[in-house]
Amino acid sequence: MITSFVAPDASPACTGRWDLFFPPDGEQEAARAVRARRAKRLCAACPLAADCLAWAVEHSEAGTWGGFTEDERRLARRREADRARYRVQGRRAA
Ligand code: SF4
Repeated sequence: MITSFVAPDASPACTGRWDLFFPPDGEQEAARAVRARRAKRLCAACPLAADCLAWAVEHSEAGTWGGFTEDERRLARRREADRARYRVQGRRAA
């Protein structure tokens, strides 16, 4: 996470561990999975997780935010778009 949405007196669990939240260039799949798991563990204990996730979704951030990797957020957005499309198609068919 970055400090863009955090109040000055807040204490994000990722402070000082931002290396876990963004993949370095050339990172292999297995190393990425381990790093992301560690990041998500910190997020699970973070009091800012909901706001952090909302920020990341709204701003299409890279990396792990609010306990979700970039790929997981992308997949969730796609599923939500699919659900919305199905709802619209369902209304047209009715
Ligand atoms: S939810 Fe995760 S990425 Fe967001 S501020 Fe907390 S520890 Fe950092």
